[in-house]
Amino acid sequence: MEDSMTQSDCVFCKIANEEIPSKKLYEDDEIIAFDDINPETPVHFLVVPKRHIETLDDIKDDDAPLVAKMILIGTKLAREKGIAKDGYRQVINCREGGGQVVFHLHMHILGGRQIGQRLA
Ligand code: AMP
Ligand code: ZN
Repeated sequence: MEDSMTQSDCVFCKIANEEIPSKKLYEDDEIIAFDDINPETPVHFLVVPKRHIETLDDIKDDDAPLVAKMILIGTKLAREKGIAKDGYRQVINCREGGGQVVFHLHMHILGGRQIGQRLA
């Protein structure tokens, strides 16, 4: 089904609609979280709004509660995964220049090993 919430050729829309599998960590009516398929750290998962928002640059004032909820879910899952005490990184890449590859908004949570101080 395609509507304004979903884009048919988008991998994260397909995961949200359970058209392709994921290692799901959390789900509610607005947000899904799942393990990254190509982890860069021992713990690497993604927090994703179900609604198709292409980039961080596309969020509106009305999306503030959604974005805050993404961050909070990331922190709770980080605690559950046991990486919160040592620490971790939450990252959103925006467009090609920011390293974005999948054009459906998502937040990375990376942890389980020491991450460098440099951001890029
Ligand atoms: P970004 O560079 O911020 O767009 O990151 C996209 C991330 O999505 C990468 O870390 C990929 O490994 C991850 N990814 C792509 N396809 C899938 C998938 N089917 N399931 C889980 N993670 C995926
Ligand atoms: Zn999408």
